Amino acid sequence: MIEPSNTHENNKGFDPSCTDAEGCREILRRVAGGERIQVEEALSLALYADADELFACSDAVRQNKHPDGIVTYVVDRNINYSNVCTSVCSFCAFYRKPGDSEGYVLSLDDIHQ
Ligand code: SF4
Repeated sequence: MIEPSNTHENNKGFDPSCTDAEGCREILRRVAGGERIQVEEALSLALYADADELFACSDAVRQNKHPDGIVTYVVDRNINYSNVCTSVCSFCAFYRKPGDSEGYVLSLDDIHQ
C-alpha cells in the first residue's frame, strides 16, 4: 500500500480537514447530498478516502446530475512532440536533457500524421 503524502508542494497552504476514513465518509455523505466542499476537504478525500467509497460517491453525484444514464468521455490526446526538457522533475523517466543522444523533436509533418 502506498502511504499518503501531504508533502508535495502543490499542497502548500492547505492541510486536509481530516485524516481518517470516518472523517472522509462524513465529507462523502455531504457531497452525495449535493453540497460543495472546500479545498481542505477535497485534499482529505484525495489522501485518505476509501477508493471504493469515493468512486461510489462520484457515481451517485453523476447519476443525480445526469439521471438519463448516458455517460460520455472525452478522448484526450497529448502529442509528445519532444522529450527534451530542462525541468528535471525527480519522478520523470521521460525527459532527456538538451544534447542527449536519445532526445527527439518531431517534425511538423510527423505531428500532422
Ligand atoms: S515531468 Fe518530465 S518532461 Fe515534464 S516537465 Fe518534468 S522533467 Fe520535463
